[in-house]
Amino acid sequence: MIKENLQHIENTLPENVTLVAVSKTKPVEAIEEAYEAGQRVFGENKVQEMCGKYEVLPQDIEWHMIGHLQRNKVKYMAHFVDLIHGVDNLKLLQEINKQAQRHNRIIKCLLQIKIAEEDSKFGLSQEEAITILDSQEFNQMENISIEGVMGMATFTDDENQIRNEFKTLKTIFDGLNEQLILKDKQLKTISMGMSGDYPIAIEEGSTMVRVGSSIFGARNYAV
Ligand SMILES: *Cc1c(COP(=O)(O)O)cnc(C)c1O
Repeated sequence: MIKENLQHIENTLPENVTLVAVSKTKPVEAIEEAYEAGQRVFGENKVQEMCGKYEVLPQDIEWHMIGHLQRNKVKYMAHFVDLIHGVDNLKLLQEINKQAQRHNRIIKCLLQIKIAEEDSKFGLSQEEAITILDSQEFNQMENISIEGVMGMATFTDDENQIRNEFKTLKTIFDGLNEQLILKDKQLKTISMGMSGDYPIAIEEGSTMVRVGSSIFGARNYAV
């Protein structure tokens, strides 16, 4: 089924949209099945779980950390993580930069923006994101590349609300790029959309969707 699910989703995605297959809680065998179907980008939300899977799976997989990240966990994945989606503070960026430096690599990051009404969701306001991008500390970091923004819509059946939250993220993305023009830098990635809402996210400008259950089936336990 995984192969069919992937094909179905790939067929509906525009060319410029990257599919992150969210494999959290799923066994290595499920990832292998997706890999054999051609999928190379996988997302996990727990560092330890991602490291365990990285160890035993093919080296050409791109691993994305999509969960809320604690600073003290960065060191365990700094040698291989490709993109960190949920960066929401300067101290975390400093730690990522430091660990990336130790491995002589550049780690790509997305700034998580709070677009949902729910208090439970993490993220920065546009002003906070600008403050980070303008800060001297950030501008001295040589081993970080901020590629774009990430957001999660409210968990609701209200399609209008979801669409409006995605519109907000696109507006913030455009606003940040206006600011960054002065520095001759541009963001390119908008990570938004999950199994339940990725078609709406794409209509609103997403360039990266994070899809789990529609590929691998429902997860057995809450995460
Ligand atoms: C689990 C998760 C997803 C995927 O959720 P599905 O509804 O299974 O597609 C996407 N993004 C984040 C941040 C997640 O934690």
